Amino acid sequence: MRNESSNHKSENDYDIMIVGAGPAGISTWLHLHKYAPELASRTIVIEKEKFPRDKICGGGIGGWSEYILKNLNINLDLPKINISDLEFIYSEKKYILHQPNCFKMIQRIDFDHALVKTGVNRGLILHENEMFLSFTRKNNKLIIKTNKGTYNVKVLIGADGALSKVRKSMNLSNKPHIASTLEIFSPVNTQFDDEYEKKKIVIDLTYIDEDLQGYIWHVPHIKESKPYMGHGMANFHIHKNKPKANMIKIFNQVLNSRNIAINQKNWLSHPIRWYSKEDTISKPNILLVGDAVGIEPAFGGGIHFALSYGELSAKIIIDAFKTKDFSFKDYGKKIQAHLIGKWIAKCTNIALDLYDHKMDPFEAAREVFTIKQ
Ligand SMILES: Cc1cc2nc3c(=O)[nH]c(=O)nc-3n(C[C@H](O)[C@H](O)[C@H](O)COP(=O)(O)OP(=O)(O)OC[C@H]3O[C@@H](n4cnc5c(N)ncnc54)[C@H](O)[C@@H]3O)c2cc1C
Repeated sequence: MRNESSNHKSENDYDIMIVGAGPAGISTWLHLHKYAPELASRTIVIEKEKFPRDKICGGGIGGWSEYILKNLNINLDLPKINISDLEFIYSEKKYILHQPNCFKMIQRIDFDHALVKTGVNRGLILHENEMFLSFTRKNNKLIIKTNKGTYNVKVLIGADGALSKVRKSMNLSNKPHIASTLEIFSPVNTQFDDEYEKKKIVIDLTYIDEDLQGYIWHVPHIKESKPYMGHGMANFHIHKNKPKANMIKIFNQVLNSRNIAINQKNWLSHPIRWYSKEDTISKPNILLVGDAVGIEPAFGGGIHFALSYGELSAKIIIDAFKTKDFSFKDYGKKIQAHLIGKWIAKCTNIALDLYDHKMDPFEAAREVFTIKQ
């Protein structure tokens, strides 16, 4: 997919470069296009993969994401499973939160591709198979090196995920806040996986008692039109001084309990970065968005944050071009004042208590998952 029709000044001269065409990068461009189409036409998005590309994820999206997509006038017609029940387990106890159509389970390969296609149809300049390598500064501009060439830009957006290369090249002195995950997908076994038929998500918090600062999930999934399940595990390890759970042992136990025999070398894994308000996430001419900044450390969903970071950053960039102030020095404060920062702060407090046995797991679940208007 490549759209070359553009309004930029010369071959490698753009106002803005967005690195990464996941939900955060594409949302940033779509919001630029909505609020400042001229600026969007002088923006390039580079993506190291070629679409359709997959991303390890549970694939659950809720009302927050749908609200943003609706405001962008996007109606993605994708294969999905509507979820109305979230079942939380702790030890022998269960708690069901029933909220009609509170989540949709989508496949990221479809979702991300559909978002990118929407952007390209609206004029997005996308270079696939192009990887950000480094940047240098020259006369209030940035010179960006990729595996395909060199670009001059005024603003660089790091939307390149939890392992962001843009973030690394900014040499920030933040403490790392990285959660580990494991995930596998397997065909539905009706003897064990009633989640598919009942269209429910299961979140099992039992392993908090085995030092897991996180949870296990079982979610219905569609893979190539077939009924599948996603089984996964996240360990946020927010209390760094506490012992680390043996994730491999626990995950083996969980898979065995469902008669799933998938060799460990075929398990998927990708880190989740969580955001702390002490983190520096911008430099003059450079902003991070989405997983490159971080999400929340209680339950760790991030598609809605990625879409929201896109809207917030687009407004901040538009303002920077108006005022000609590219310092982005208030970016952190603006995130904290936004719903993104407020929600992450709330979930961080919940995570600190939940993963220190100071909060009833079902109370934590209600706090995070109850839909408030
Ligand atoms: C196991 C797991 C399960 C999850 N489940 C859920 C869930 O059910 N619901 C939910 O809401 N969230 C979930 N998340 C979180 C969610 O996947 C992320 O928050 C979301 O993908 C963030 O979007 P993003 O655009 O910031 O980053 P990404 O989706 O990671 O996109 C980054 C893009 O940047 C590209 N890129 C990387 N490096 C470069 C480079 N150097 N040059 C050019 N391009 C580059 C990548 O190829 C990628 O396309 C889950 C995460 C994990 C790990």
